[in-house]
This record gives sequence, structure tokens and C-alpha cells, in this order.
Amino acid sequence: MAHLHPHPHSRERDPECLHCQALDRAREAGLRRTRALEEVLRLLISASQPLTLANITEAQVLADKADRATIYRLLTKLERLGIIRRLGLHDRSAYYVYHVPGEHNDYLICTQCGQIRRLDLDCPAEELEKQISKDNGYSCLYHELSFYGVCPVCAAA
Ligand SMILES: [Zn+2]
Ligand SMILES: [Zn+2]
Repeated sequence: MAHLHPHPHSRERDPECLHCQALDRAREAGLRRTRALEEVLRLLISASQPLTLANITEAQVLADKADRATIYRLLTKLERLGIIRRLGLHDRSAYYVYHVPGEHNDYLICTQCGQIRRLDLDCPAEELEKQISKDNGYSCLYHELSFYGVCPVCAAA
């Protein structure tokens, strides 16, 4: 896992550091390092919100490097390897996020258009998680909260 990087111990979410880690994970899983792989991971890591396939394929950095089918195959591989996660109610509204090992996000999902937003709040469930772990003798607990509703755009339509 050793790579030449100025802050290997940082737990902060330095996007460059995450990018190195992501490429290491992909290499260890046997993926060939291509320009498309580098750019897809960079996009997902730097995105503040989950991205759709269209968001990714239409990004300027990828426009002339890989076609939609190639990017889709790459996303599917990365998802199977657990490096990224695919979210969504159905195929028509799939979203992709980079999965930082040991971290999680909670989401807000529109049941009409399928839009998914990452919730920007301190996770409300961490104390609950500790309590559940203690009461039940379970270790390595994790969770992911999804709140479902109707987004403002759909509500106005
Ligand atoms: Zn909506
Ligand atoms: Zn949470």
C-alpha cells in the first residue's frame, strides 16, 4: 500500500490522498490503470453529491477519453469490487458515490424522480449504533439511512 505521498497518516479527506488510495485499491483488485479509470475515480471523489452515469460521461475530462459503454462497464466493475457504491430506486435513476472504507453517508431520495442527495448533517445515528452494539453484543456495526420523500421540483410539477 506504500505510496509516495506527503500525508499518509491524515484521516482528513484530502482528495488527492483518496485518489491515490482508490487507485491502489483498483490495482490490487486487478484493474488496469487507464485514463478513464483515473478520471472516473477523481470525479466521484471530488463530487459533493452522488453522480449519475450522465453526469460522469458528460464531464469534460472524460468526454474524449472513453465512450458511455466503456464508462458504464468500468463503473460496474468498480461497484462489484466495493470501491464505489451504486445507489438508486431503479436502473433509470442510478447514482454513484465513492465509498471511503469505514465511512458512510446518509441520503435523501425523491420517490418520484429518483434524485438522491447526500445529507449534509452530523449523523444522528452514531449514539444509537453504540447502544445497539452494546445491548446486542454485536461488533462492527454500520448503517446507512435513507429518507424518502418528494423533492421540491416534483412537488411543484
Ligand atoms: Zn423529484
Ligand atoms: Zn448515518
